[in-house]
Amino acid sequence: MPSPVREQARFYHSKRWERARLAYLEERHFVCELCGGLATIVHHKVHIDADNVSDPMVTLNPDNFMAVCQACHAKVHGDGVTAEGVAFDADGNVVPA
Ligand SMILES: [Zn+2]
Ligand SMILES: [Zn+2]
Repeated sequence: MPSPVREQARFYHSKRWERARLAYLEERHFVCELCGGLATIVHHKVHIDADNVSDPMVTLNPDNFMAVCQACHAKVHGDGVTAEGVAFDADGNVVPA
């Protein structure tokens, strides 16, 4: 079994995610949906985990996206660390916490 963290990291480095993420940020004019600041991160409202990382209805569904700035993203995740023990770097990539 590949580790969940590795699967998530693979997804966040994929071309399809990079495209979906940029398209969404452009659609939102890079405005943070929480504070109106500069959004650089697309957050998944339903957090990606080992069970749904291969489900495009979760990972690539704009209904599940939220454009946020770094500060708000950290708040959404509680100091930048998810329940799964995974953190996000400045580009919204998953990094081991
Ligand atoms: Zn914000
Ligand atoms: Zn997030």
